[in-house]
Amino acid sequence: MTITGFTGAGLDRADHLRLDPRRLAALMAHEEARLLRLAELDPVLDEEGRLAWEALAADAGDCLFLGLDEGVPLFAPLVRTAALGQRAWSVFRLLAMMSARDAAIWGAARSVNEWHNRHGFCGICGTATSIFRAGWGRKCPSCDAEHFPRVDPVVIMLAEHDGRVLLGRQPQYPERRYSALAGFVEPGESIEEAVARELMEEAGIAVSDVRYVASQPWPFPGSLMIACIASADSDVLSLDANELEDAFWATRAEVEAALAGDPAAPFQAPPAFAIANTLLTRWSAGG
Ligand SMILES: [Zn+2]
Repeated sequence: MTITGFTGAGLDRADHLRLDPRRLAALMAHEEARLLRLAELDPVLDEEGRLAWEALAADAGDCLFLGLDEGVPLFAPLVRTAALGQRAWSVFRLLAMMSARDAAIWGAARSVNEWHNRHGFCGICGTATSIFRAGWGRKCPSCDAEHFPRVDPVVIMLAEHDGRVLLGRQPQYPERRYSALAGFVEPGESIEEAVARELMEEAGIAVSDVRYVASQPWPFPGSLMIACIASADSDVLSLDANELEDAFWATRAEVEAALAGDPAAPFQAPPAFAIANTLLTRWSAGG
């Protein structure tokens, strides 16, 4: 199994304990139980650059049960915040320092927290909902509807043509950054159809032979990134200026130089925790 960004937490999520109030109370009272520290929704790191944890207080109240780490129960706070949908570039600097495992643990906590903040009311009858399933759901006291944290599938892809791949640039990217094109999967679409539609919409490229490569969660706020490579029928671009500021076809040598951090490379590669980096690495290795 490929370890991509925000994966590899290695926790036993122990779903069977989430609805068992007696055993959940025992986990919270466990003498080694730990609570993740968060600054709003951002990670807090200790001096060694690892996630910071504290003892779980007896009056901790509602928490998210992250899972068991070799028998030790781990929790995250459920925080009320107005900082929704924000992803400060400072978080990306912290992520660049964090281990994949820590990023995975924090990513799950961040996604679930953002979902709770956005879904305080029942989508069916409008009543204020309550936390249940140890933080992994909300329940409506009026109509009994159960609501679960949402995961939004996003396709991210490289179109390949004659030994080169298509890379694009959005206006908000850091200087020189280019990445794989991406877009949300819509209702009624397969992954393959979403890849073909997005490449046609954003770059005017028709593709065939869409191949799945890998996936990763992306906790801003709750996407599942599905990485693919597709064969382009032609290399003639027609860019959607609302989506892309620029795009170009990169050779294998140019991709290798960017991944190696070569300042002479024609673009800056996406960070290692982004699946676009995994995708480029796999493609440059001939995958
Ligand atoms: Zn309801």
